[in-house]
Amino acid sequence: MKITDIKCAVLGENPIVRITTDAGIDGYGEVENSKSYLKPHVLFYKPYLLGADPTNVESVMLRIRRLGGFKPWGSAVSAIEMALWDIAGKAAGVPVYKLLGGKVRDKVRVYNGGVRFPMQGSSPADYAENMVKMKAAPEKFTIIKQGVGFHSAMPYEVQNFTFGEVQPSRFHDNRGLLTERGLNHVIACVEAMKSVLGDEVGLALDCGPGWMVPDAIRFAKALESMHIMWLEDLLTGDYTPHVSADVYREVTRSTSTPIHTGEQIYLRHNFKDLIEKHAVNIIGPDPADIGGLAELKWVAEYADLHGILIAPHGIFDGLIGLAGLVQVCATLPANFIAFEYPVARPDWWYTLLEGLPNPIVVDGFIQVWDTPGLGVRFKEDVAKKYLAKEDEGFFD
Ligand SMILES: [Mg+2]
Repeated sequence: MKITDIKCAVLGENPIVRITTDAGIDGYGEVENSKSYLKPHVLFYKPYLLGADPTNVESVMLRIRRLGGFKPWGSAVSAIEMALWDIAGKAAGVPVYKLLGGKVRDKVRVYNGGVRFPMQGSSPADYAENMVKMKAAPEKFTIIKQGVGFHSAMPYEVQNFTFGEVQPSRFHDNRGLLTERGLNHVIACVEAMKSVLGDEVGLALDCGPGWMVPDAIRFAKALESMHIMWLEDLLTGDYTPHVSADVYREVTRSTSTPIHTGEQIYLRHNFKDLIEKHAVNIIGPDPADIGGLAELKWVAEYADLHGILIAPHGIFDGLIGLAGLVQVCATLPANFIAFEYPVARPDWWYTLLEGLPNPIVVDGFIQVWDTPGLGVRFKEDVAKKYLAKEDEGFFD
């Protein structure tokens, strides 16, 4: 089998990769939404891929893997990798999880980072009210993640929150020491959320990046009695193009509250220090940024070997990304906690595909399906209506 074309169309906000072959089998991958600018980056790889046998996934990846980077520059490579697995699975007549080593669970736990309701403000009461709504969501998530600190509106809405200069972009680029009032405010909001969730639903906190080490340690220690699932991206994360394992280690070694990072990190090599130095308790790679499904699987196994847990990121990965997450997470060892449930935007995305369960999430879990490849197919007649003029030929 040979690759005959690589196409990319932006559907809604998500760039979609389609790889076609001379056997009439095609495969799909998806890039996070808000990254429509990556379409040319996907097509950049085309000359490297034409003529290759897509069922030899690793051999194809060797052609392009070095030409990627930390988020967002690993996204195109990752989406291509998923599309290759989709083809390989369809060609073999098996779901992708079989090709990744086979499943060890029939349903995968998801956590809620994306089924959200607008915050009314940044007070403890606002956080509690918002958590009441998230707890009542029909998906019955068993873990909910909420943004606090620099990963929230607090720097803008809480007076005298930080000694740092508050940045205007609201793109998680704030950084600096918190004031005593600022830190106490974050802790009060966490207490308010815990008073709603009790011990029925786990609470994870997306915190930064941008915290300074003394604040990170004070904060993590203050929460120790609250049994928080994890503190995510306190120091680096999101679009930070480096890891800072030694600095994370200083925080992690000082507290029993689990410390988490990794959503922006590309390739196993960049997880090596975090894992081998035991710099965090939990890693959170995103299959749409780390380099794909097999890369995530490898890193999960290596983390398990070192007593480190994994809770993959995925909020913006869309429905094809969701399919990839289900396939790979079904195969992960017992260090797997849950992956972040992607929400498709706009809503019409849910009419474009067949193959997903309905409802998708039941009691906080997704049942693993057994259809070949990633197991989702476009209803092309429906999807075509949402293609831009320049992408008209995407399904041809
Ligand atoms: Mg995050």
